[in-house]
Order: sequence, then C-alpha cells, then structure tokens
Amino acid sequence: MTSSQNDRERVSTNIIVENQFETAANLIGLDPSMQLLLKTPFRTVSVEVAIRMDDGRLEVFNGYRVQHNGARGPCKGGVRYHPEADEQEIIGLATTMTWKTALLDIPFGGAKGGVQVKARDLSKRELEAITRQFTRRIALLLGPYRDIPAPDMNTNQQTMAWMLDEYSAKYGYTPAAVTGKPVALGGSLGREEATGRGVMLIMKNYSRDFGIPIKDARVVIQGFGNVGAHLALFLHELGAKIVAASDVYGGLHNEDGLDIPALFEHTYKQHKPVAEFDGGDKLINPDDVIWNIPCEWLVPAALGSVITKEKNANTIDCKVVVEAANSPITPIGDKILEARNIQVLPDFLVNAGGVVVSYFEWTQNLQQEPWTLEQVNSGLERKMNTAYEVVRDLADDKGVPWRTAALAIALQRVADAEALRGGR
Ligand code: NAD
Repeated sequence: MTSSQNDRERVSTNIIVENQFETAANLIGLDPSMQLLLKTPFRTVSVEVAIRMDDGRLEVFNGYRVQHNGARGPCKGGVRYHPEADEQEIIGLATTMTWKTALLDIPFGGAKGGVQVKARDLSKRELEAITRQFTRRIALLLGPYRDIPAPDMNTNQQTMAWMLDEYSAKYGYTPAAVTGKPVALGGSLGREEATGRGVMLIMKNYSRDFGIPIKDARVVIQGFGNVGAHLALFLHELGAKIVAASDVYGGLHNEDGLDIPALFEHTYKQHKPVAEFDGGDKLINPDDVIWNIPCEWLVPAALGSVITKEKNANTIDCKVVVEAANSPITPIGDKILEARNIQVLPDFLVNAGGVVVSYFEWTQNLQQEPWTLEQVNSGLERKMNTAYEVVRDLADDKGVPWRTAALAIALQRVADAEALRGGR
C-alpha cells in the first residue's frame, strides 16, 4: 500500500512493515539486492491443526510458523492465537522480530507463529490440544539453535510449558527450546513482566530527555493483558495516573486515575473483565472512544491497526504514542501523527523487553545457571537504554522519525551479517 491509497480499518501487519522498509533502507543506501533479500522471509510454513472439541466435533484450524531471517542467530519470536493471525499477519510480525533482535543487539533472528483461532471461546483442554498438535507439526523447524518460540497474544507461560513438553518428548529435555516458560520449568525470573518493564524504561528515558513528566501525567492504555497490565503497574509506581484502560470486553475511565494495583489483581490475576471493576465510568464503545480521551501518553497494548486515518489519527489528543503493541498504527495514520507533531515511539524499540529477557532465559538454560532477578532487571535496563540512545541520536542526527532511525540501525546490522555470511 502507498500512502496515497485509502486507509482501511485493518491493514495487515505485513503491509505496515513493508511500508516502513524503503525509507529506512534509503537512509543507509542499502543496495537493491540486499533490500530484496532482507524483505523476503526465509521460510514460511503452514500447517493443519485438527482437534476434537469438547462437544465431540472435529475442528480444523490454520497454523503458521514463519522464520524471517536467521543471519544474526537462531530465529526468535512468539506464538499468537487470534482469528486475524493469518499468513500475511505472521510474516509481518516475524519481520518485525528480525528488526527488534537486531536493534537490541541480541544474537537472534526473527520468527513468529500463530494459529487462527478465537482463543477466548476455547476450554483449557482445547487450548492444550491445539498447542500440542501445532507444536508437533512445526517441531522439525524448532530447536535452541534454530527457532525458539515464546508467548504472544492469547498465549502464556502455560502454553510454553505444553510446547516444551511436546518438544522434549520428541528430542529429549531441552529447556532452551522455548522461552517465557514457568520458572519451575526453567523460565527466567522477571520474564513475565519484562515487556511492560521495557516499555516503562523507554518512556522514562524519553521523559527525561524531552521534558514530558511521568509523575502525575495522564496515561491511556488499550489492552490490559501481559504488556498493558504490567506497564500500568510500573507507571503507577512512578506516580502516573492511568485515566483509562480497556480490554477486549470493555473499558473504564477515571480522571483521578484508576486504582491500578486493585485493577491488576481483578483483571490480570483473577481474569475478570476491566469493565467489571468498580472504580471508574464504563466506556461505551471503548474501541472508538478510548482514543479521544486527553492524555500525555497514549499506549496501544493490544492489536495492530488501531490508529488509522479514518478512525482517530486526526483526533487523538496526546503528546506521545507509545507502541507497546506490534504495528498499532497504519502507514497513513503514522504520517498524520507526524504532521501533527505527535511523537511515536516505535514498537520494535518500545516492546523489546520481552525478547531481551527471553534471550537471558535462553542463556540461563544453555548454561544451566539461573540468574537473580536483580541480574535480569539490570541487564534489561542496560539493553533498553543502549537501544534507546542509538535511536534517539540517529533520529536527531538525520532529522528523521524515530521509527526510520530504529529501522535503519536494525537493517544495517542484519545486512552486515548477511554480507559476511555470503554464500550466494
Ligand atoms: P495478552 O493476550 O496478554 O493481552 C492482550 C490484551 O489486549 C488483553 O487485555 C485483551 O483483552 C486485549 N484486547 C484484545 N482485543 C482488544 C480490543 N479489540 N480492544 C481492547 N483490548 C483488546 O497479549 P500481550 O502479550 O499483552 O500482547 C499485547 C501486544 O503486545 C500484542 O500486540 C503483542 O504482539 C505485543 N507484544 C507482546 C509481548 C509479550 O512479551 N507478551 C512482547 C512484545 C510485543
């Protein structure tokens, strides 16, 4: 899609990611054949996931694993369960993982997996059956030195435990085969909250450098799952007011700030909808109205393509959009925000905390040596700060948006690795 075409309600992540590529590639003068190589996914696998539902029916779902690029190390990326997790979506998300691991300078490439399924309608037994069969179908692509899955939307530590169990049944005990596992199975301390912590660290850096305070600032968060709920807790600890939050079922608004520790307990721990929490006004049509609530920091932390020309890019009332979700802004939406001088902190910088601690988890598994929480958190802070600084400095030096700067850095690193490997 070009920016002259109409913006649509939902733009596939792959199209969003492709759109961002050219400007960054031109900034570093990347030659056309290298551009083609870096754009093309290395391997795209589609599998049938057929399971017996609780009511006895046989149901068939589509599953995908895409390995986008492995020049800098084994492919790395989450597994998502969502009706929109089609092949194009997964290719886009796998590509983003290549840029993310390169930008954070961790020794991985990029991958992503998904099953096209409405996870919230499934029982635990059905989810387990899907996970186990999906893992068996893609197992020959996986391994600690090939491709390492992790949780993403609608998957979690339990999903990773099932994946590990299936993988180990075939290849023997291999804790480094997946990350985001429960600590009892070799997971890392600090992994569950790592993405939210990383988002907070980027916001803290930006706040210091650009004079937008976090203390007493108004924050709006769409999505109150792993990333959104942990981020809310960290920002609350820094004195921010989370004035609105939503999940797939609804949302809440409170100008004095929501009681975040209590909402975290209610939603994240007890798995109850945000809107059933007593402590704010229920949002009617939260997917539409949440974007127009005035705030300093606006944080999409759920789906892609939620900020578009048609919907809200012209009316959003904030100073900074923090892309905690992957690809939440369409290309035209991005241009509108740029013209309106609303800063956008790009997804593959902002939400990289999860994959950084996944890298620490993989390291601990390979060495059979657990780290303390302090080691994990200080390592994460170092990595996030360094990535933040290189992006800030290049954006400033070249006068380009942060997304372009971040992508240029990542592209250069992957291109260098590809060129050194040669073989073509
Ligand atoms: P999750 O499944 O734990 O939570 C997703 C949240 O979004 C839930 O609260 C869900 O109810 C909400 N949601 C879904 N549809 C919605 C809608 N239409 N309106 C409002 N809320 C809606 O997922 P997560 O792990 O928190 O991932 C969220 C985003 O962050 C995704 O884009 C994911 O790719 C990205 N991300 C996650 C990680 C990670 O480590 N978990 C790392 C990097 C990026």
